[in-house]
Amino acid sequence: KLGNATAKAELGRATWKYFHTVMARFPEKPTEDQQEALRSYIHLFARLYPCGECAEHFQQHLTKYPPQVSSRKVAAGWGCFIHNEVNAMLDKPEFDCTNLGAFYDCGCAEDEEGEGE
Ligand code: FAD
Repeated sequence: KLGNATAKAELGRATWKYFHTVMARFPEKPTEDQQEALRSYIHLFARLYPCGECAEHFQQHLTKYPPQVSSRKVAAGWGCFIHNEVNAMLDKPEFDCTNLGAFYDCGCAEDEEGEGE
């Protein structure tokens, strides 16, 4: 029942890094298909998250605050907001979402000019 808090936190940090980087690379003007891809991805991500208790909580957050996928800015803002919901639940400090900027850099600037999918 105790589980392994260190492993759970490590998985969380790695996942959040990846999660926010996905949002930061989402197209600025996504097609309907790209929007649907992100929406279903987030729901499947929540279902399949390896920590069962976390997955359950996160799915509840998604029901309350469905993914916002109309643009990169909107998706990144939503991702920051939903992470803050988890932060609040865990009594962690709130992250200032106006400071997102280039915080999540994929290191792939060379294809930034393309559609960035
Ligand atoms: P993390 O929350 O892992 O954040 C990592 C870094 O991201 C921070 O240091 C900061 O630089 C940045 N950051 C912080 N907030 C934001 C934000 N709002 N937007 C953008 N960047 C931000 N743990 C549990 O114990 N119970 C759970 O139910 C649970 N559910 C989870 C659900 C999901 C989907 C995920 C990915 C993780 C979950 N976790 C859960 C793990 C938990 O959220 C943390 O990842 C873990 O506790 C480590 O926390 P941390 O303080 O190192 O920072």
